[in-house]
Amino acid sequence: GFRMGIVGLPNVGKSTLFNALTRTAAAQAANFPFCTIEPNVGDVGVPDARLDTLAGIAKSQNIIPTRMTFVDIAGLVKGASKGEGLGNQFLANIRETDAIAHVLRCFEDDDVTHVDGRVDPVADAETIETELIIADMESLEKRLQNIVRKVRGGDKEAVQQERLMKAALAVLEEGKPARLVEVAEDDQKAWRMLQLLSAKPVLYVCNVDEGEAAEGNALSARVAEMAAAQGNSHVIISAKIEEEISQLDADEAREFLDELGLEEAGLDRLIKAGYELLGLQTYFTVGPKEARAWTIRKGTLAPQAAGVIHGDFERGFIRAETIAYDDYVAAKGEAGAKEAGKMRAEGKSYEVKDGDVLHFLFNT
Ligand code: GDP
Repeated sequence: GFRMGIVGLPNVGKSTLFNALTRTAAAQAANFPFCTIEPNVGDVGVPDARLDTLAGIAKSQNIIPTRMTFVDIAGLVKGASKGEGLGNQFLANIRETDAIAHVLRCFEDDDVTHVDGRVDPVADAETIETELIIADMESLEKRLQNIVRKVRGGDKEAVQQERLMKAALAVLEEGKPARLVEVAEDDQKAWRMLQLLSAKPVLYVCNVDEGEAAEGNALSARVAEMAAAQGNSHVIISAKIEEEISQLDADEAREFLDELGLEEAGLDRLIKAGYELLGLQTYFTVGPKEARAWTIRKGTLAPQAAGVIHGDFERGFIRAETIAYDDYVAAKGEAGAKEAGKMRAEGKSYEVKDGDVLHFLFNT
């Protein structure tokens, strides 16, 4: 599954947010259980109204959402890259994530101490990014030394790695994140293997006060501007609101959100933004036993999409019987869609679309 690391300086609201997400009614509902794997790791069902609609039509016994994992990564302070305090563990935790949700304090409150004595989310974002950049530089310098001999021996992989490492270092040395390195298609795999922290896609989470969750405030506006300039995205969330919602049942939560002028809870918006950031999409498998959602990257071909369910599906792939979500709903199910000529047989080169209802045929 996909892992999103929640990072940020101390006292910005990370734990408040993480705890709220793990306890929220939506997460607690049978369909979308959030199970806490470790104290700081939570696995949440991705809310998707389409899945409920499909299950309703097919009268599926079980509804199984696709999942996303959140990791609350505490302990980032200035100097973390030097391994002070929890620094090293923190950096190892980030390495294992697919993307970073960077929580920024966009609320004023004299009772909550700021580590640097002032509320400035743009400066905070830079503080953390700098730590990631320094950590990447140090790890690259070490790794470059380690592969010198292989490079001299003409090892092709090592030569490619060295070239990519040097390209990354050149950008990092300018104080910029490795995210900005342009990587050729042929180098993508080797590039990902470098697991650079500052190469991870970033989603800024502006934590604002309760009254400001709908529109944001002057501080979140500055973050939005920074994010746009960097090509990163941002969401506005009030961790305090999420905390209150987490104590309500689903109906009460809906009412509360309406009062605040919010369409969706923070969990939903965070997941959607994460999906967008990672270039993810969903396809469905639907039958009387279960209706289930699966996550794939955009552009994934049918056999690889099948492989998310089981390796055998990919290896023995024959074809995918495909019904677009809207067609499935309009025809009130598989039989109707078939009759209406809306079920297509797609082969190995079919690029799966968001919302496709798929049935795979494969050799065992
Ligand atoms: P962490 O260190 O980043 O995990 O921060 P915490 O979640 O522990 O929050 C630090 C303090 O800030 C706690 O006392 C929270 O109640 C408070 N806090 C979190 N979000 C908000 C907010 O939106 N507004 C205000 N006023 N306080 C908040």
